[in-house]
Amino acid sequence: MITTKALVLFSGGQDSTTCLAWALEMFAHVETVGFSYGQRHAVEMEARPHVLEGLRASFPEWAPKLGMDHVLSLGVLADIGGSALTDNVAIVLGEKGLPTTFVPGRNLLFLTTAAALGLRRDIRALVGGMCETDYSGYPDCRSETIAAVEKSLVLGLDEPINIHTPLMHIDKADTWRLAEKLGGTALVDLIREETVTCYLGERSVAHDWGYGCGACPACILRAAGYARYRGDVA
Ligand code: ZN
Repeated sequence: MITTKALVLFSGGQDSTTCLAWALEMFAHVETVGFSYGQRHAVEMEARPHVLEGLRASFPEWAPKLGMDHVLSLGVLADIGGSALTDNVAIVLGEKGLPTTFVPGRNLLFLTTAAALGLRRDIRALVGGMCETDYSGYPDCRSETIAAVEKSLVLGLDEPINIHTPLMHIDKADTWRLAEKLGGTALVDLIREETVTCYLGERSVAHDWGYGCGACPACILRAAGYARYRGDVA
C-alpha cells in the first residue's frame, strides 16, 4: 500500500539514524520514537536530540519532513532486569550462545508500543534498524520474527501496519555505505560524531568510527564495519 507517513524507532545510534535518513528519503512525513527503559547507556538517549538537530541543520530537504519526536517509558524492562543493558551484569556469552546484552522481549515491546503510538498519530508504517546479518544472534532481530510481529499487529489492531527494516540483510560496512548513499559524507560525519552505539555509553574516547569504549561487542562491530567501509573508499 502507498503510505506517506512513517514512525522510526530511533535510539540515537548508528543503525536507527541510518534508518531515519532512509525514511526521510522514502516518506513525506517522518516522526521518531525513543524508548526509555532504564538502560545503562542513557548517553544514547542524550544523543537523540543532537542527531535530530544535526539532520535538520545539514539536510534542508529533509528538515520539513521531520516531525515530532516521542519518548515512551518502558521501565518494565528494568523492573524485569537480568540483562547487561539494564543491570550491572558483565557482557559475556550466556545461555544458548546469546550475549547477556539481550533484553528478552525488548523489540517485541518496542514494535507493539510504537504501533500503538503510530495509530494515535495516524501513522501505520514503522521503521526499525533490526538486522539479522551480524547482530549477535538476537532472536528478535530475525526477519521471521519481525514478519510475525507485523502479522500480530495487523490482526490485533485491525490496521494495515507495515514494518520496514532497511538494514535487515546488510552488514555494518553496508550500513555505512547506505548512510553515504542517502546523505553523503555529511551524514557519515554526523553519524560518526553524534551517534552512540557503545554498550557502555562511552563518549570520552574518539575513534575514526566515532565515540565508544572500543572493546564491547557493539564497538567492535561498528569499528570493523567502518574499517571495511573505509577500505573501499580509501
Ligand atoms: Zn563500547
